[in-house]
Amino acid sequence: NSVFANVVRAPEDPILGVTVAYNKDPSPVKLNLGVGAYRTEEGKPLVLNVVRKAEQLLVNDRSRIKEYLPIVGLADFNKLSAKLILGADSPAIRGNLVTTVQCLSGTGSLRVGGEFLAKHYHQRTIYIPNPTWGNHTKIFTLAGLTVKTYRYYDPVTRGLNLQGLLEDLGSAPSGAIVLLHACAHNPTGVDPTLNQWEQIRQLIRSKNLLPFFDSAYQGFASGSLDKDAESVRMFVGDGGECFIAQSYAKNMGLYGERVGALSIVCRNADVASRVESQLKLVIRPMYSSPPIHGASIVAAILKDRNLYHEWTLELKAMADRIITMRKKLFDALSARGTPGDWSHIVKQIGMFTFTGLNTKQVNFMTQQYHIYMTSDGRISMAGLSSRTVPHLADAIHAAVT
Ligand code: PLP
Repeated sequence: NSVFANVVRAPEDPILGVTVAYNKDPSPVKLNLGVGAYRTEEGKPLVLNVVRKAEQLLVNDRSRIKEYLPIVGLADFNKLSAKLILGADSPAIRGNLVTTVQCLSGTGSLRVGGEFLAKHYHQRTIYIPNPTWGNHTKIFTLAGLTVKTYRYYDPVTRGLNLQGLLEDLGSAPSGAIVLLHACAHNPTGVDPTLNQWEQIRQLIRSKNLLPFFDSAYQGFASGSLDKDAESVRMFVGDGGECFIAQSYAKNMGLYGERVGALSIVCRNADVASRVESQLKLVIRPMYSSPPIHGASIVAAILKDRNLYHEWTLELKAMADRIITMRKKLFDALSARGTPGDWSHIVKQIGMFTFTGLNTKQVNFMTQQYHIYMTSDGRISMAGLSSRTVPHLADAIHAAVT
């Protein structure tokens, strides 16, 4: 008998499990709108041209070696990543107030930040939006923080519940950590306006809460890297402290390279350097040092004017295709006279639409139409194409009538 005989089977991950079910379905019309990964009009994964070019440069450079990176990762990558999110002329960077460490994509950056906070910060409660990306609760709980939620989404308006958000953060204990999606909130696609961000910022600063930004979609939401960083820059601009987790999975299509960064903006350079010394103690026993390939691709693109420009064009093309899919789906539902107000499809931002479909309707669409999505009714717009929009619109129409 196995010594593991008592191990019980764990449930599939709620998001990745959708793909498992999809793969098992033999139907030729099946459609996977579960996982958040970009697909072309042909439904294929995309490697950006600029990434291929950067990889070619790396391969041709015979001086490149495969030695370990330092614990904090590739120095150029860290510097350029901070510049990308905070802005080229950021006073925080100029004043050496920012410490940046290369991590394993967005997830790893959140985890390293969470572990650091659990060890060195006096207030171990983190508030995350309700709803949020399903992994947040698990990441921060395992890091040693206590997770609570704040109201975020209003199912009636399918928009932001600003009042509820301000009330919940207003009654959070002083010093509590607040997780904020920098842009393209997952799963709702609902972002605060700049005006609303300003109200949130004032409340957070007046209560000495600690903002922790999750930036998984910079440039992917609006098509502009600067616009999608406005929320973060607003908070850094006031001189207060903040955490930022960046991912290059979506905006450079580097999903499997696991490349991201954690930046901590501090009040002075001395604190920043001490914080960095402690981040090393978090990272070293966890995975020792990060991988070199993905970070080298990112650094090659960010430091070369031409490659950088080319990246912004390819990024904009991805964002624009998603925005076009929103319009097409909305038009297709209007043409069918599908009951209900579907304007949120074009109003929401980023990779996902939070359709408002319930679990029963989702199950119906999977069983009858072979369309796969998370049970909360979230669909990945990046997985749609002009060819598949009519099929999805038929399914939604049938599900609600
Ligand atoms: N944060 C949010 C809100 C996300 O949606 C995702 C990916 O779906 C991530 C973080 C982290 O992704 P990765 O670890 O692949 O960078």
